[in-house]
Amino acid sequence: MKIDRAEVVVTSPDRNFVTLRLTTDDGLVGLGDATLNGRELAVVAYLQEHVVPLLLGSDAHRIEDTWQFLYRSAYWRRGPVTMAAIAAVDVALWDLKAKAAGLPLYQLLGGASRDKILAYGHASGRDLPELFDSIRKHQALGYQAIRVQTAIPGLKAIYGVAAQTQTSGKRYDYEPAQRAARPAEEDWDTRAYLRHLPTVFEGVRAEFGPELPLLHDGHHRMTPIQAAKLGKSLEPFDLFWLEDCTPAENQDALRLVRSHTTTPLAIGEVFNTVWDYQTLIKDQLIDYVRSAVTHTGGISPMKKILDYAAQYQIKSGIHGPTDISPVGMAAALHLDLAIHNFGIQEYMQHGDATNSVFEQSFSFSDGYLHPGNKPGLGVDLNVDEAGKYPYQTAYLPFNRLADGTVHDW
Ligand SMILES: [Mg+2]
Repeated sequence: MKIDRAEVVVTSPDRNFVTLRLTTDDGLVGLGDATLNGRELAVVAYLQEHVVPLLLGSDAHRIEDTWQFLYRSAYWRRGPVTMAAIAAVDVALWDLKAKAAGLPLYQLLGGASRDKILAYGHASGRDLPELFDSIRKHQALGYQAIRVQTAIPGLKAIYGVAAQTQTSGKRYDYEPAQRAARPAEEDWDTRAYLRHLPTVFEGVRAEFGPELPLLHDGHHRMTPIQAAKLGKSLEPFDLFWLEDCTPAENQDALRLVRSHTTTPLAIGEVFNTVWDYQTLIKDQLIDYVRSAVTHTGGISPMKKILDYAAQYQIKSGIHGPTDISPVGMAAALHLDLAIHNFGIQEYMQHGDATNSVFEQSFSFSDGYLHPGNKPGLGVDLNVDEAGKYPYQTAYLPFNRLADGTVHDW
């Protein structure tokens, strides 16, 4: 099974996606997601200029060897651009191997460890009534675990609140990367956030009771002691997890947070390798691994990270916002089904245009996902549909504090 063709497909149905499409000499097609939100074309160039020429003619069955070759032969290791490019190759090769075997990919990862995959969705609101309405809408869709994000009085627009007004005047929808020539500027005030957020969770628990699993994303905006304070103040509301409470570069920050709170901690969507988790897992500073298959070098290294985490009773919570393409989502679902230490899967639903480009066989019902049983990943790329949506420049927003200082978004 030799790689005969390698194409990088860029399409922008509801947002930008980058897909690696490998074709073998016997006509099998394998797909890998290489989407890096807001920096898509850097990965396109990395793949086209430096990876595709190395793949042509190589043995598509040699997944681990190809991964090690791309990782080690570059010499310059890690980083989101490199690891998204390698991930696309790794996932496409797994797709091909499973198709060649005539099996859904999870069967090659050890087979199913469970029947279905618990998903969580993103509810949000500018105030409590709007938030309650959003939670009820998610429950009506079947979601049994819900992430709660809220606007903060005095701030114009913040991450994760779908209905608030953007600085651009447009709806702040689920995909915050706006199609524009420059990133949108938003504002931030940590003290206001720390005051307001516990009152919101108090309201949600009063309205929806103690059983509904609730999650929250701090989006890396707090100092360690601020995050510790928040974790402690949220303890009465029994969160499933507090995500990304501190800047991700500083692993020791979570040691301080951990020493002050029993609120479970999740982190990792901006991580690229197992080394980003080395201290966090070994010292048991987190409860959930939040990496995306797409940004962590693919299925092969994600399996290794999660197997390492399993030795410390740390579970998966694979990243799954809309900038993970249906290809990246399918890769996550096959892994979710196979590993023993599955925790939960983030799942935001793509729009109709995206679903017309990526024909999918995974299912969502009663709050649970399943990757389906088609051979491979179970996703097909409709190249003609993809061609209808050319790339559009889009950037994630950034924050400034009241005095003008740039702050983590
Ligand atoms: Mg997050």
